[in-house]
Amino acid sequence: MTELLDTNVDDFAGKLHGSVTRPGDSDYDEARALYNAMIDKKPALIARCADVDDVVAGVKFGREQGLDIAIRCGGHNGPGLGSVDDGLVIDLAGLKSISVDADSRTATIGGGCLLKEVDAATHEQGMATPAGIVGTTGAGGLILGGGMGYLSRTYGLSIDNLLGAEIVLADGSVVTADENENDDLYWALRGGGGNFGVVTQMKMRLHPVSNVLAGPMLWELDQTVDLLKWYRDFIVNAPEDVYGFFAFLTVPPAPIFPEELHLKKVTGIVWCLPGGEDDSKALDEARSQPGLVLDGVQEMPFPAIQGAFDELYPPGDQWYWRADFVETIPDEAVQLHAEWSEKLPTWKSTMHLYPINGAAHKVGPTETPWAYRNANWGAVMAGVDPDPENVGAISAWSKGYQEALHPYSAGGVYLNMIMDEGQDRIRAAYGQNYDRLAKIKAKYDPDNLFHVNQNIKPAD
Ligand SMILES: Cc1cc2nc3c(=O)[nH]c(=O)nc-3n(C[C@H](O)[C@H](O)[C@H](O)COP(=O)(O)OP(=O)(O)OC[C@H]3O[C@@H](n4cnc5c(N)ncnc54)[C@H](O)[C@@H]3O)c2cc1C
Repeated sequence: MTELLDTNVDDFAGKLHGSVTRPGDSDYDEARALYNAMIDKKPALIARCADVDDVVAGVKFGREQGLDIAIRCGGHNGPGLGSVDDGLVIDLAGLKSISVDADSRTATIGGGCLLKEVDAATHEQGMATPAGIVGTTGAGGLILGGGMGYLSRTYGLSIDNLLGAEIVLADGSVVTADENENDDLYWALRGGGGNFGVVTQMKMRLHPVSNVLAGPMLWELDQTVDLLKWYRDFIVNAPEDVYGFFAFLTVPPAPIFPEELHLKKVTGIVWCLPGGEDDSKALDEARSQPGLVLDGVQEMPFPAIQGAFDELYPPGDQWYWRADFVETIPDEAVQLHAEWSEKLPTWKSTMHLYPINGAAHKVGPTETPWAYRNANWGAVMAGVDPDPENVGAISAWSKGYQEALHPYSAGGVYLNMIMDEGQDRIRAAYGQNYDRLAKIKAKYDPDNLFHVNQNIKPAD
């Protein structure tokens, strides 16, 4: 890295429609803060881009100055890959445009949008695009990495609904990637994350989703073994418009839950049926499982279930998570899950099994970089707590749990739900698609300018 001269930074800042934040500025700490408070990075510069021209200027400046470049959308990345020590953060929070075309059932969204912003805009037209379950997550990181959520079984992963993108490449050029233009890049973007450039716009397919039947059902924790055995068989055979993720959790001490359940460890399934009340019978079998302590399923606007966890998980908690793809859950694995559920280290810690079958299985393993189309679940063990004193406990639980269950996993992992776990995990995640990704990386980013991510190395 060459020495960063104030005059060069001033010159760069003067060209931007947005602004530059640097150490010493009054808003520096706020601007650099990440969702995961366990990660404390101190960038040399944060370019708060207002438009695509600013992104181009940022990429060129970062390259000329030899700075490490991080791309930031929602800042939710577990290991904090939306920021970088001593480098340049290209902060896309100013790229918020959303235009919904009801006739073609598409939405074009800026590279800095949060999921809740996309949901609100598309809901106005009675539509939605598949994304994740917490509204403050960035659409950029989530969609480009894969995107699992309440609509996965009905309409596929987010990448299965990404129709095209505008992207600023490492040389500063702005290109479109879709079925007709740069189709190799279009393929790579559907799971390759931020490896190929800065995505300034994404065109998403929309689906008619308005009111949904959604909410949690909670059971006594000692019912885990029977409930998980029932769930694993039920969900792989359920109609595609029935979605439910399995969870171990502690009932939050919040007024919406009966007081006698507050801080009780439970087993749960969080449902979302986009067909609404018409599908209510599909849940009768779940209701009849023994040990039910709460049935919170009701009809609601789709954005309501999308935002249901937002208050529980605000920015600023400590997060340590581990994950794996899972194809089957044999009885021995069920037993292990039950044992680890009893050890939830803090009340915000949780384990989720997100179903990724149904419509997500209709896309082949090489049609996008997402190689694990055989997997039925993305499992995540998330240790979460506001208190930094508990970092050791949440990390140890998450690691121990994942390591115990890993022998029963499908082998790969969803890279958006791990920490910085090294190159072997990245290769395993992409499996047979890694070499193709590496060749496309060599074409579009031969010097690996965009390496602050779950990095795909350019092929030789
Ligand atoms: C509370 C919480 C809930 C979550 N729920 C889900 C869920 O339901 N489903 C799911 O699939 N995932 C979920 N995730 C995981 C989430 O997909 C990842 O954390 C993802 O990295 C977040 O994206 P971001 O834009 O907020 O992250 P950032 O930290 O801003 O960026 C992370 C990385 O994404 C890339 N990136 C972001 N935007 C762009 C862009 N415009 N162009 C190019 N590259 C870009 C960059 O490589 C960057 O390093 C959740 C995460 C959290 C913390």
